[in-house]
Amino acid sequence: MFPQARPTTWQPEPVEVARTTVDDAVEVLSGLRITALTGAGISTDSGIPDYRGPDSPPRSPMTYQQFVGDEEFRRHYWARNHVGWQHVDRTAPNAGHRALVRLEEQDILAGIITQNVDLLHEDAGSRTVIDLHGRYDRVICLNCGRVISRTHLAERLTALNPGFLESVGDVADIEIAPDADAVIESTAHFKPAPCEFCGGVLKPEIVYFGENVPRERVERAFALVDSAGALLVAGSSLTVMSGLRFVRHAAETGKPVVIVNRGITRGDKYATVKIDAGTSDVLEELVRRLPPPA
Ligand SMILES: [Zn+2]
Repeated sequence: MFPQARPTTWQPEPVEVARTTVDDAVEVLSGLRITALTGAGISTDSGIPDYRGPDSPPRSPMTYQQFVGDEEFRRHYWARNHVGWQHVDRTAPNAGHRALVRLEEQDILAGIITQNVDLLHEDAGSRTVIDLHGRYDRVICLNCGRVISRTHLAERLTALNPGFLESVGDVADIEIAPDADAVIESTAHFKPAPCEFCGGVLKPEIVYFGENVPRERVERAFALVDSAGALLVAGSSLTVMSGLRFVRHAAETGKPVVIVNRGITRGDKYATVKIDAGTSDVLEELVRRLPPPA
């Protein structure tokens, strides 16, 4: 259910970045307005697993083509999503999200481009947020294009599948549990809901592997990068091009790129500063130490 769970052929290659400390980041970013690009790593402190983190097991995620082309796959998908969604909906922002809110209040942060679909930036109070890969709380009909809320769909799925949630119990990490398929004893009889307007196939309003980010959204994100003097990457391994292109663009237009992430990233060769650490502590320190932009 998360777009960061994507297959990749990229093999990590360590790149030596000379500057690696928070002191370096403060020196590079001081006086500049910053655009932030965030990924799964900023949400791990909220209890949402990062499938790409250094300790994550490999997994084979779904593709758009699978979802659209295979009815049994969709049935299984919606059964798991009906359980996993409730967990995301109960998740709260953490110190890293709140630090970015404060940077925006101080006019240091121009805005956030996020690869996450969990809406935790919005929940924390950030105002300028581009949800690059969509948002988990909306569902779209692939036939008529109508968008409905995930809450409404949850009511319909519960009505269509009486007793299903009770049979599963409180399984918080259904999406990563190695025995998830055993936990949900049988999805064979799960009834996905069709679009109530046209009968079409419903899909989370989330960009999956094999699907493009809508052009208008990409253009707004590039404009947000261009409006700032620096790019701060927080909690992304930049494995997919949909995020990496903004890092490359910032570097090519002469802007410093500061990356805060556990483990190496595909954008390290563009980094002015690379801090190998979790996001919450580093972002809080930046709030304490960065002066207002000149
Ligand atoms: Zn429809």
